[in-house]
Amino acid sequence: MTILTGNCLCGQVSFEADGDITMMGNCHCTDCQQITGAGFATLVFMNENNVKISGETKRFEHTVDSGNALTKDFCPNCGSQMFGGNVLRPGSIALRLGSINEKEHVNPQFNVFCSSKAPCSILDESIPGFEKMPVKAEAKLG
Ligand SMILES: [Zn+2]
Ligand SMILES: [Zn+2]
Repeated sequence: MTILTGNCLCGQVSFEADGDITMMGNCHCTDCQQITGAGFATLVFMNENNVKISGETKRFEHTVDSGNALTKDFCPNCGSQMFGGNVLRPGSIALRLGSINEKEHVNPQFNVFCSSKAPCSILDESIPGFEKMPVKAEAKLG
């Protein structure tokens, strides 16, 4: 069991997670670059039932190349990206490294969409890297 807490920049949205991390990894896709404003997103997946959210978020939904619909929940006040979701995978929620206080629990297991990574992003060669999204992980990541 891992306990993770965190909040947005202004503090209006916060969360407390208590449960197992199901998967964590870095996504270098263009969508993640644009939405985070960073070189890549570090996503930490948990069961939605294990995450208690306080404060209201606003949701942006978009369709990716595979036809899958993804959701991005953000703080309507300060704009911090807080939670990711995947319509094909209800019940799973992605937390984001930046808003997590207990960063020592976050150890990405893989890099995906390395084909669109920023030249200045240095990949950790000790974990698997995938050019795109491996088919098996497709349904999981958001
Ligand atoms: Zn905020
Ligand atoms: Zn991505």
